[in-house]
Amino acid sequence: AKSPTFSIEFFPPKDDIGSAQLLKTAEALKEGLSPDFVSITYGAGGSTREHTLRYAELLKDEYGFEVMPHLTCVGHSESELIAIIKQFQKLGLRNIMTLRGDIPQDKEQFQPHPEGLSYASELVALIRKSFPNFCLGVAGYPEVHPEAPNKEVDLENLCYKVNQGASFITTQLFYDNSHYFDFVKRCRASGITIPILPGILPILSTQQVKRFCKLCGASIPATLGKQLESAKESESVRQIGTDWAYQQIKELIEKGAPGIHLYILNRPQSTLDLIERLKADGIIETPVTSSEQNTPTELEISQSKASEQDRL
Ligand code: FAD
Repeated sequence: AKSPTFSIEFFPPKDDIGSAQLLKTAEALKEGLSPDFVSITYGAGGSTREHTLRYAELLKDEYGFEVMPHLTCVGHSESELIAIIKQFQKLGLRNIMTLRGDIPQDKEQFQPHPEGLSYASELVALIRKSFPNFCLGVAGYPEVHPEAPNKEVDLENLCYKVNQGASFITTQLFYDNSHYFDFVKRCRASGITIPILPGILPILSTQQVKRFCKLCGASIPATLGKQLESAKESESVRQIGTDWAYQQIKELIEKGAPGIHLYILNRPQSTLDLIERLKADGIIETPVTSSEQNTPTELEISQSKASEQDRL
């Protein structure tokens, strides 16, 4: 019900250094932002899938975050997917980002598991049928999904996915807000009524953002491209990235976006700088820290785990 929401995407770290980084970031963001929810990716860019569950549990139980693990169809049979969803349920997780998944790096195109699913819409339908209480996010592409033949077909496929029972859409990253506003307009004209959360990635490195944009089909506006090219040091790139994200978020909120989903790459600093500026300029309210808000007590955690087990 709250609007605008602020949410954060983590990815599961591969080693101990990455793990320490994630935990430090979670701690810093809990104090500085108190996000409405956090998500944790699944196998994205080759990341370790087993860790999604482990970190989802940790972020929920240790930090008190509302957690949304991602789940993808890649390489799983339908029965394996059901087993994973049951594990989510057992841990008291209530939200799933429901995806087809990235094409594995050693493959040219997406190939479903012989007993698996081909599209995210099938996963949404599967979860809705057997686990009706989950809140389900799905992905949307303001600049069109790279495999779609055109934006009309991509939108038809999105409408179908939403109609299988999605609760909200989170968009792929974009750096020109007009793509988001146009996308929302087209979605609404096609009868999609669920919230559409813009996904924002504050730039940390020029090479990295170019690589991401190439992979997901997002464009870098010429003005931003020129600023990045003229930046000599990584610190100035980060400053340009934070300034650009600030302007994007300011306009998105002023024009009624229901929330902001931040792709933070497990690094807190740009996000904390951004949040400070947005608070100072009155664009977002000073959040109540999560400890004051609704961190569950040990008793509530154990009761909620017990009731989840009862439901199973
Ligand atoms: P789908 O909705 O299934 O769409 C994939 C393609 O198929 C599109 O081109 C679509 O138009 C087309 N299509 C859909 N239905 C049909 C149909 N019935 N017939 C023909 N064509 C159809 N990847 C990961 O691996 N792990 C993650 O954790 C992850 N998190 C993400 C989070 C967000 C917010 C976003 C935006 C992306 C994320 N991705 C992640 C990347 C995502 O997996 C890829 O973009 C993937 O290529 C498509 O996934 P999807 O769920 O959008 O697929």
